[in-house]
Amino acid sequence: MTHIPSRIPVAVLGATGMVGQRFIELLQEHPWFELVALAASEQHGGRSYAEVTRWRLPGSEMPASAAALPVVTCRPKALPAVKIVFSALPAEVAGEIEADFARAGTAVFSNAKNYRMAADVPLIVPEVNADHAAAIVQQRKLRNWSGCIVTNANCSATPLVMALKPLQEAFGVRKVLVTTLQAISGAGYPGLPSYDILDNAIPYIGGEEEKVEHETCKMLGTWEEGQGFTDAPILVSAQCNRVATREGHLECASIELAGDASPEEIIATWEGFTPEPQRLNLPSAPEHALVYRREPDRPQTLRDRDAGHGMAVTIGRLRRCPILSYKFVLLGHNTIRGAAGGSILNAELCVSKGLV
Ligand code: NAP
Repeated sequence: MTHIPSRIPVAVLGATGMVGQRFIELLQEHPWFELVALAASEQHGGRSYAEVTRWRLPGSEMPASAAALPVVTCRPKALPAVKIVFSALPAEVAGEIEADFARAGTAVFSNAKNYRMAADVPLIVPEVNADHAAAIVQQRKLRNWSGCIVTNANCSATPLVMALKPLQEAFGVRKVLVTTLQAISGAGYPGLPSYDILDNAIPYIGGEEEKVEHETCKMLGTWEEGQGFTDAPILVSAQCNRVATREGHLECASIELAGDASPEEIIATWEGFTPEPQRLNLPSAPEHALVYRREPDRPQTLRDRDAGHGMAVTIGRLRRCPILSYKFVLLGHNTIRGAAGGSILNAELCVSKGLV
């Protein structure tokens, strides 16, 4: 593991929200990062985090070290000692605020959609495209920033690309059809009115299908100096649904492979997947990025979302598809792997590569 002589001071933007709370939980006792500041909208006026926030994460209490911190505004001047900010801001405000921090010399690790598809911004899931992090160098030159912006993907695209990556490397992937069953926490807090989502499934999440389709191809594509990003030549079609679970996005995928493979070969490819974060032994990398379950009724949202402390993707139900090559089910924790945990892993990757 990379040796960090002293912990790097970090802050969370959007600290009071669903993803912000996950950041705070996951940054407690982090070996490389020290959480020194919290920020949200101006309405909180510097009052303590405990005063302005209702802790909503099940199974944990608000960490005492966060409770005492003042909630300041999302301006670089309000967070002078911070080297890295983790952004859990809504897209409506993230664009300008994140650019202000990058201009001021801070490395921004963002969950918002604003910069994900920009030609000079890496969209990273470290198990999939760690090499895209090198785009930061070009971004700094192009934008004249001393800081940078690194994004992580939509919470449904993240577990999908993790399941696809080893298959792409081993057999080639041509087509992907995916139908998601996404948890309500994916809509932030307070999210959907209970009257709309209880006893219900809603076949629409605005903009989500386009994000899954486009971000998947960027992440499975290439980055080369001078050339930039080139999308993977994969056809992706997504149908995204909101269902009445709290955390964890379940996805039913059918894929067409370029070459043939037996079910045993595919499962062995998933189980043998040892990508860069695991080889580098990054602090937030789960021991196994992918977990294959052989029971006929797994993965299940409630039982499997916390695999690898919420950082592993669980796959199951692999079988031949009568239309494409194979179908299977996958599951990822949306606020951990698909948001805060993914962002922290991105920061660990960039620190270990000497990029921030
Ligand atoms: P959320 O629960 O609605 O939280 C939003 C946060 O942003 C709150 O801390 C809020 O603070 C702050 N905020 C709102 N307006 C602001 C402003 N004008 N200036 C500064 N801060 C402001 O949303 P979330 O679910 O945590 O999502 C955060 C981001 O992550 C979004 O871009 C979302 O698309 C993305 N994301 C979410 C998930 C997920 O599973 N939830 C997964 C991947 C990505 P106040 O207390 O001041 O209002």
